Amino acid sequence: MPAKGPWYDSFGGSFIAETLSPPVAELNESYERIIASESFQQRYQALLKHYVGRQTPLTLAENFSRHLGVKAYLKREDLAHTGAHKINNALGQALLAQAMGKRRVVAETGAGQHGVATAAACALLGIECVIYMGLRDMQRQALNVQRMRLMGATVVPAEGGSQTLKDAINDALRDWVAHADTTYYLLGSALGPHPYPAIVRYFQSVIGKEARQQFAALEDGALPDAVVACVGGGSNAIGLFSAFIDEPQVKLCGVEAAGQGEASGLHSIRFGDSGQSRLGVLQGCQSYVLQDEHGQIMETHSIAPGLDYAMVGPEHAQLRDNGRAQYLQATDEEAIDALKLLSRCEGIIPALESAHAVAGAIKLAKRLPAGARIIINISGRGDKDMETISRLVADTVQEGEANESH
Ligand SMILES: *Cc1c(COP(=O)(O)O)cnc(C)c1O
Repeated sequence: MPAKGPWYDSFGGSFIAETLSPPVAELNESYERIIASESFQQRYQALLKHYVGRQTPLTLAENFSRHLGVKAYLKREDLAHTGAHKINNALGQALLAQAMGKRRVVAETGAGQHGVATAAACALLGIECVIYMGLRDMQRQALNVQRMRLMGATVVPAEGGSQTLKDAINDALRDWVAHADTTYYLLGSALGPHPYPAIVRYFQSVIGKEARQQFAALEDGALPDAVVACVGGGSNAIGLFSAFIDEPQVKLCGVEAAGQGEASGLHSIRFGDSGQSRLGVLQGCQSYVLQDEHGQIMETHSIAPGLDYAMVGPEHAQLRDNGRAQYLQATDEEAIDALKLLSRCEGIIPALESAHAVAGAIKLAKRLPAGARIIINISGRGDKDMETISRLVADTVQEGEANESH
């Protein structure tokens, strides 16, 4: 199918099979009207407050700031229900599905975080929920599979291909096409065919709106000098950036997962220099995609499962190419070091994804004048990652114990 706009300059669009045209058109026709309606807004805002627990705090990290040499505030999406920002979008789209008269929601999940948030929103609203997940991912993330099932979702293994996220996406889309009259497809990041990037941005923009107001209240009406967020597909970052894009004095800084380093080939850097990332089409939209010389999607790697994705959302591609935002990278090791530092300084264990934002902030701080003020988005909490973390920091813990016994 020919791609149709609107575009984020040369990014975005709607590259979909003919069979997907009717449901995407239906979504396009209904979402703006529904989102603008007073009844929808009342319901959504009330649930954000009483179910998700918003607004989330903006916490001045005083001890960590001393390490950085700049004044750092943390936007605490780790305190949102289900432990990350994903619930803002899952709940918003589940309400949208209900308003469109859909009785059933399908979604795919990689590490399981989006699946858990979707299962929670559907349980709350009484909507049937089917989550597609690669068989390998189900084995690696067994706890999240249990959480989804406890909340009443059906988790269906994707057994084709590499048995990971890509295959789960294919199965979820097939399900959607086959049951479009009753079913809503709930996408988890600022990706996919139009209007999904716009819908996800809208539901995550609450992060930026709150952060801007909270910062102004604490800092005499000022704007921050920079805002920092990790970028997988890009939803938590675009949610934070959206409140500051029109304020050119505020630096926007996204942080990608460099895995074991760009040269190793084991990374998720879509904005790198290696030439492995080029313009491509994946999941219905055009943006930078990690691919080999034949255009095959590359295997990606990150210690943070939520950043382990071959494509970046189209608006980030635009913001990078027009220079409005800058994108840094943090390796697995830098993220772990940042996670340990923030945990020890502040008593806050960030998710491994969010630890990339913290590591990026440490790099950015070196280029900012003393006294600069920044906001770092803590997109989620580290509880889900404790197994990975404890494997990696076991050495440190043992060292500490050994010292004590001397
Ligand atoms: C999924 C996830 C991310 C990455 O997704 P974005 O769409 O880039 O925000 C980041 N942090 C956490 C905690 C996540 O669960």
